Amino acid sequence: MIDKNQSLFDRARQVIPGGVNSPVRAFKAVGGTPKFVTRAKGAYFWDANHQKFIDYIGSWGPMILGHGDPRVLEAVQKAALEGFSFGAPTEREIELAEMLIALTPSMEMVRLVSSGTEAAMSAIRLARGATGRQKLIKFEGCYHGHADALLVKAGSGLATFGNPTSAGVPPEVVKDTLVLEYNNLEQLKEAFELHGKEIACIMIEPIAGNMNFVRASVPFMSLCRELCTKHQTLLVFDEVMSGCRVALGSAQSVYQKSIPGFEPDMTVMGKVIGGGMPLAAFGGKKTIMEQLAPMGPVYQAGTLSGNPVATACGIATLKAISEPGFFESLHASTKSLTEGLMKVAKSNGVALSADCEGGMFGFFLLPQLPKNYTEVMKSNGEQFNRYFHGMLSRGVYFAPALYEAGFVSAAHSSTDIQETLDTADKVFKSL
Ligand SMILES: *Cc1c(COP(=O)(O)O)cnc(C)c1O
Repeated sequence: MIDKNQSLFDRARQVIPGGVNSPVRAFKAVGGTPKFVTRAKGAYFWDANHQKFIDYIGSWGPMILGHGDPRVLEAVQKAALEGFSFGAPTEREIELAEMLIALTPSMEMVRLVSSGTEAAMSAIRLARGATGRQKLIKFEGCYHGHADALLVKAGSGLATFGNPTSAGVPPEVVKDTLVLEYNNLEQLKEAFELHGKEIACIMIEPIAGNMNFVRASVPFMSLCRELCTKHQTLLVFDEVMSGCRVALGSAQSVYQKSIPGFEPDMTVMGKVIGGGMPLAAFGGKKTIMEQLAPMGPVYQAGTLSGNPVATACGIATLKAISEPGFFESLHASTKSLTEGLMKVAKSNGVALSADCEGGMFGFFLLPQLPKNYTEVMKSNGEQFNRYFHGMLSRGVYFAPALYEAGFVSAAHSSTDIQETLDTADKVFKSL
């Protein structure tokens, strides 16, 4: 049989760098040939060889209802017939903004954009513009899209700022980005002692999904809030992945349970809020958001921002996830997956830890959950790759890298999860 994935990949590499339009799709971390998807429905997709997979990536987060939810399809089809893009305002943009603000009360106003990268980049410009400060703090292992100032790794010491992680990013562009260790209270205190008056914002993934799945501890999050308030620095939550994914009120609502009155100053959203269409947003307090053009001096714009088809998709998705009991049931099925994986691993003598919130999960080939990037990277990459390919060849599609989170959708049934666990049992036995 001809491997159609392979022939498509060979063809793709002639015309698209690495054959993919986003690097992680290339399977570079795990080796092998990426699956070219031909169609998807519910919890599954099919590749070019007609093999069916249980999908635990869900487009890296957006597909919280599963693929092709009829309510979303209907809304998108109707919107498409009314027009693709106008470059003039529509009522649907207001409706989506109102829904986002109702779900996330820390945001009093939002601006819609087309990707998480764009939203994070704009949020930083706004934070700098609104505070009149240059420096920002980010944490190692957190990803905020690929804007220049955020493609940075830790420097050699605290007083020194970061180094670019990508060619093409001039050192001057990241010289104001301070990279600290996630969940490290001492470093954070020290950074504010040294630079407090100059820091425009802290940018953080409250539940980090770009180093697999790592929660900011409650004491760490409290300290972020406390230091930001004290130094008039803005606390910016990057909830592009966790937003409307870990809870209806996003990760901030999870921290509000432990820290009364807790709120970030700004929030960046994406992925789920577009339901699979190119749509993202950033928002916050009115006084900050009013600094944006055309009201204020901070410039930001977009030809396709608030696109009428994308907003229809987002609205239909948010309506569906707002139904009573949605997140309780989603969390229960995600938990049955993570607990099941731990049990199956244990019975096969494999050290595995796992965590989840709402429809987002992570598992590590480590005896204990890691707290930062360095600990995440201690997991056994070679064992992970064998596990990944073992699952993949048997029709279960987990993220092709050990530093990526996974996603369960409302379309994943208990049968799908049981099938996954039975497959994991076979794969663990073969490791
Ligand atoms: C995916 C992601 C982004 C970037 O979003 P894109 O739509 O891929 O540009 C930013 N921040 C976080 C936390 C993300 O998970």
